Amino acid sequence: MSHPVRENDLLARLRVVLVEPSHPGNIGAVARAMKNMGLSRLALVNPHRFPHPEAMARASGADDILASAELYTTLPEALAGATRIYGTSARHQRTIPWPIVTPRGAASAIFASTSVAETALLFGRESVGLSNEELEQCHTLINIPANPDYSSLNLAQAVQIISYELRLAALELAASPTVSARVIDEAATAAEVNGYLDHLQRLLIQVGFLDPHNPRLLLRRLSRLYQRAALERTEVHILRGILTEVQKRLGFPHG
Ligand code: SAH
Repeated sequence: MSHPVRENDLLARLRVVLVEPSHPGNIGAVARAMKNMGLSRLALVNPHRFPHPEAMARASGADDILASAELYTTLPEALAGATRIYGTSARHQRTIPWPIVTPRGAASAIFASTSVAETALLFGRESVGLSNEELEQCHTLINIPANPDYSSLNLAQAVQIISYELRLAALELAASPTVSARVIDEAATAAEVNGYLDHLQRLLIQVGFLDPHNPRLLLRRLSRLYQRAALERTEVHILRGILTEVQKRLGFPHG
């Protein structure tokens, strides 16, 4: 295929991971910040309250990002398939021997070449940020060089600033003549296909097609079927969107 590469396709390689966000309003505001800048993939690790009407209200039209948000109970699950992991920190962690870059520095590194890596961006709790153990999963830290006397931004505003820099860098790469459509025509990762299968399983239980006490054989068969189909990432997104819409229409918890 030789269609032009759009910045949003490049940005689809990125996921925003919120670790234990406590305010549903912030989750909604993050979704809005992401969608404004063309980011689409949101992962939530143990949000205190989600889904929540306040998240919907603050998302203000970016509720599709909330609907397709991936929910995880552990950080490694949220990071599955990501080959580059950036942490964010309000403080200059002098005790941590990791490189610290600005949002602009990170954005230009992420979009430096046409083979954009699967990248996760980790954001911490409103109260205490990311733990040392979580920071250890990251190869680089992003620090917004704010007023040193008052350096901690609201979570969604930190996501906004970093997403804006990512968009600028993606726009630049998408405009370059060397970028090829191969960048986006990529197979879904195992984690993406598994995320879809988990989502499908939830729906099948909700509609009574699958007995949660005896799920094994059906799920294995479905898994084989989708392996055979060799899904692309965009196809997985479409399939998940369909499941979410069915769940919403039937009034079930969705995602
Ligand atoms: N009191 C916490 C601040 C948490 S703010 C602390 O000192 O770590 C919530 C999250 O917003 C942070 O974990 C980080 O992901 C992001 N954030 C806030 N300010 C930031 C900054 N100046 N640079 C980078 N990320 C920031």
